[in-house]
Amino acid sequence: MKAAIISVGSELVCGHTVDSNASWLSRELTDIGIPTVRHSCVGDDERGLADTVAQSAALAEVVLVTGGIGPTPDDITRQAVARAAGVELTVNESVLRRIEERFSSWGRRMSANNRIQAFFPQGAEVIENARGTAAGFAVKAGTSEVIVLPGVPAEMKSMWVEHVRGRLACRVSSAIASGSVDCFGRGESDITAELHDLMAPGRNPAVGDTAEDAIIRIRICAAADTIQEASALLERDRVEITRRLGEIVFGNDGESLQGAVVKALVGRKKTLSTAESCTGGLLSGAVTEVPGASACFLEGITAYHNDAKVRLLGVSRALIEKHGAVSEEVAGAMAEGARRLSGADYALSTTGIAGPSGGTPDKPVGLVSIAATSSERTICRTLHLRGDRATVRDRTVKHALNLLRIAFLSER
Ligand code: ATP
Repeated sequence: MKAAIISVGSELVCGHTVDSNASWLSRELTDIGIPTVRHSCVGDDERGLADTVAQSAALAEVVLVTGGIGPTPDDITRQAVARAAGVELTVNESVLRRIEERFSSWGRRMSANNRIQAFFPQGAEVIENARGTAAGFAVKAGTSEVIVLPGVPAEMKSMWVEHVRGRLACRVSSAIASGSVDCFGRGESDITAELHDLMAPGRNPAVGDTAEDAIIRIRICAAADTIQEASALLERDRVEITRRLGEIVFGNDGESLQGAVVKALVGRKKTLSTAESCTGGLLSGAVTEVPGASACFLEGITAYHNDAKVRLLGVSRALIEKHGAVSEEVAGAMAEGARRLSGADYALSTTGIAGPSGGTPDKPVGLVSIAATSSERTICRTLHLRGDRATVRDRTVKHALNLLRIAFLSER
């Protein structure tokens, strides 16, 4: 079984709203073993949408449409789907009563416009919307089933979870197990080259990757007759991918890098402090985003000015003058100062040139020094990062967390 997705709305086509529904639904479909073969985005144009629905129905057994089922004249999805299905719109009395009751419970009169939300293509099955007035529906168009959901992401998602996902999953003959191996520290093309045989088209499990802000997730989707068999196939690939990628793997199934670091610290009953310059608190922010971080995180010092590095972290002024604030020597001294003063087991530090100004030929924008320290050793790294200020700061945080993870938290 294949799926096609259509997102409806002029606000999407003209770029005011990013179409997040299609990518969210595609991921959900992949997770239940249904490949998506087409995404279409159509403005509020009844004839154009009817054509797109008909074309999509010729390609896929299930067509998911989101948006355009509100009460205003530019909401044309129900009319367009009826046209594509070759049927009329008819009123559903029980939906009409429900909308009337909802309005009277709000102490408001239902306007004539709202009546349209009780009209569905003949033969359609109504899909309840517990969060809004726009009920969805499912109707046959040729050999396909067209399933229409509201555009509002929260409404669409809850209706998908409550009413649609299960019924589609049942139609896929095999059981599906899916998960991911989550990595940081190497480029996407490098990683996928390492896994090219596992990523061959048509292979089961299907292996693919997603990259977002330098986090690469290797997604595995296994199909088999039973969930036990599918899970066994999934785990076999997970072990092989983890073996091939080695230390860059930090977690599984969508874990965050900071989540993995906090879990490792808490599991070992170890504590962490941070000393930040160019990241200005983003590193401690990332750590404290993780629920339960209080079990391992002691304190974060933002020492942006050189005077602050001296006063708050005990870095020697002579060291800063000799090597410059952006240097492995100063990064190391910052981390050691933070560890010593806080009494933590480990400390991390960042100092760098995030840009866009402040670079020199010797020390260009994107040059960053980070350090991780324990009672036994201090490990410093120099990074040459590319991108704008936000990217440089984000990658610095991730490299610092990763340095701690690999240098101090990877041995069992
Ligand atoms: P309702 O009557 O509940 O508004 P609707 O089906 O008419 O339902 P739309 O009017 O199409 O929904 O969309 C409502 C809002 O939902 C849009 O203004 C937009 O903010 C958001 N939205 C719609 N489609 C998408 C999409 N594909 N991705 C992300 N957001 C969307």
